[in-house]
Amino acid sequence: MRARTFEIARGVHWLPMRGANVYLVDSGGSWVLIDAGYPGSAATIEGVVGRLCRGGRPRSILLTHGHPDHAGAAVRLAADWDVPILLPEGEAPFVNGTSLYPEPLVFWLARLLPRRAMEALARGSDLGGDVRPFDPQTGAPGMPDWTVVATPGHTPGHVALFRPGDRTLISGDAVLTLAWHSRLGSRGVGWLWDLARCRPRLCGPPTVFTCDWRAAATSIATLADLEPWVLAAGHGVPLAGRHVAPALRDLASRVSPPSLAGD
Ligand SMILES: [Zn+2]
Repeated sequence: MRARTFEIARGVHWLPMRGANVYLVDSGGSWVLIDAGYPGSAATIEGVVGRLCRGGRPRSILLTHGHPDHAGAAVRLAADWDVPILLPEGEAPFVNGTSLYPEPLVFWLARLLPRRAMEALARGSDLGGDVRPFDPQTGAPGMPDWTVVATPGHTPGHVALFRPGDRTLISGDAVLTLAWHSRLGSRGVGWLWDLARCRPRLCGPPTVFTCDWRAAATSIATLADLEPWVLAAGHGVPLAGRHVAPALRDLASRVSPPSLAGD
């Protein structure tokens, strides 16, 4: 079946892969793929990208972070297109096969599994030699209209991408737009009601996969200060309009670091 795509802002194409979003950004003919979905997504992404690029290919694959639902098909795509995988340098230690992210799930697994099994998990996250770590302060290569926003917390080196010209924000997993249970911004079981109605809502990143709560909360406030018009998250339906910035500010106020004191 032909995968559907949506142009959610000028030159920003949303590829809703199963379980995770991928974006293809055209900056005056310079195409960059943002995130790469789960393993097994490569053929679908290649089909869609080939159509959008009219037979061409992106110049690079830029990952907001190295989680497997964002980096899963990156190695295969990089090999097929012969392009580099750009990764914020703070993520590099977690995609070279030696270290796992310091997130709750990993700590729980480490209590249950033998060391050899944990080492095998780390090896499984190795993205290989096509990775090119970049300094977020130098901007996103191939995306001259965009700024890179350091948004640590969900993972140590996580970044978002922001285009000031039309206030388009690609947030990765720093902010999500679906009824996902998250300790950052969830209101009791209200998320269940939203989920039942399929109503997208803003929330912080998922609990068990987030490394540093306080940093994640600060990053949400950083993104709220940008006052985005379009919010394209790693999971959920992209949102657009005048309600986006107030909703993000509201989320930031609910999860600001002082409210986490004593957690
Ligand atoms: Zn993630």
